[in-house]
Amino acid sequence: MMQTNPGHLTPQMLPKAMAEGLYVHVPFCFHKCHYCDFYSITRQDEGRMEKFVERLLREAEVWERSVAGQSNGLRTVFFGGGTPSLLPLEMMRKILQGLKLRFDLSAVDEWTVEVNPATATLEYCQMLKQEGVNRLSFGAQSFSVNELATLERHHEPGQVSESLQLAKRAGFERLNIDLIYAIPGQTLESWKHSLEMGVALGTGHISCYGLTYEPNTPMAVKKRLGVVKGAEESLELEMFRHTRRRLAEVGWPAYEISNYAKKGEECRHNLMYWRGGNYIGLGPSGASHMEGWRWRNRPHLREWEEAVDEGRLAAVEVEQLSAEQRARELGMLMLRLCRGVNYEEFAGRMGMDGRALFSGVVQRLTKHGLLEGDQSGFWLSEGGLAVADAIAAELLRG
Ligand code: SF4
Repeated sequence: MMQTNPGHLTPQMLPKAMAEGLYVHVPFCFHKCHYCDFYSITRQDEGRMEKFVERLLREAEVWERSVAGQSNGLRTVFFGGGTPSLLPLEMMRKILQGLKLRFDLSAVDEWTVEVNPATATLEYCQMLKQEGVNRLSFGAQSFSVNELATLERHHEPGQVSESLQLAKRAGFERLNIDLIYAIPGQTLESWKHSLEMGVALGTGHISCYGLTYEPNTPMAVKKRLGVVKGAEESLELEMFRHTRRRLAEVGWPAYEISNYAKKGEECRHNLMYWRGGNYIGLGPSGASHMEGWRWRNRPHLREWEEAVDEGRLAAVEVEQLSAEQRARELGMLMLRLCRGVNYEEFAGRMGMDGRALFSGVVQRLTKHGLLEGDQSGFWLSEGGLAVADAIAAELLRG
């Protein structure tokens, strides 16, 4: 893996390829949830946000002059954060319109914005719809007041269905909710309740993540100090298995380890990541990948702004993967999908035979009952799902 001097990265140095996805990181939250390690700041005012909007469009201009940015390869746009819906309506409109002027978004068929249930209004949803956004994702996390308090989420369970109603009234048909399981103190019964509440909302797409204790988050510190106790592994596994069973029953089967959808409702932007696509990340901490080059923007608002002011990419952690590393990483990403690593698709993306590359590890792990496969490819077995991260590491090692 080659490290490149981050100060020198420009879009012109990258392979001449089209970006398929565009990610925009909006780094503002009104409160920091205790489990979260995404980059965001909570002390902001309209002036700070205005400056961000202006710099974001300037950053888009850096890309506008490149092959990646000029091409009409973009199919998906995703606004995450932070809390994108915290941006005042007119500022958000300015970003949406500004991006349409700077990129060719004519072939985009999915444009998602993450919305906090506490911030959604009808007017806001209508504006998003009017400007071309066609999918909204709501961070519900749990329908238990106590669990939301443990996570330090500042919304009421009832606000999720209210905001979904508003989104539907504004004309949104593609909707997602995020849920978290294995929250300290959560029982299997309580998780089943949250899941049923989520299903009853009828979004057709649901993401269910097991709580992780990211280093340096307040939640990880609390666990270390014994203030909270993590869920037992066996309970977490039971929650995971129940989720897969129940959502398959209602017709939203898993298509990825943590994602479930009605047929056709899968998140195309995330599929693009898991299929090794090229994407541009805008905003502080936004990650990018172009044909084996990957980096992320400085996870610091002021430092990101300074780089943009100088007309350069705010890139850090720039890596250029060798062909084999890239292929192995793609194998690892594809394995997250229920269909696993499909050799034909793999060869189409990498120009490399996945059968030869992975034959050793596939044989070994199949013997242990962790992988299954046939002529078309290989995928995680039921037993393999429980240790997916360890299997991914094996694929990387070879
Ligand atoms: S709202 Fe989302 S991004 Fe902001 S702190 Fe909470 S989990 Fe993190």
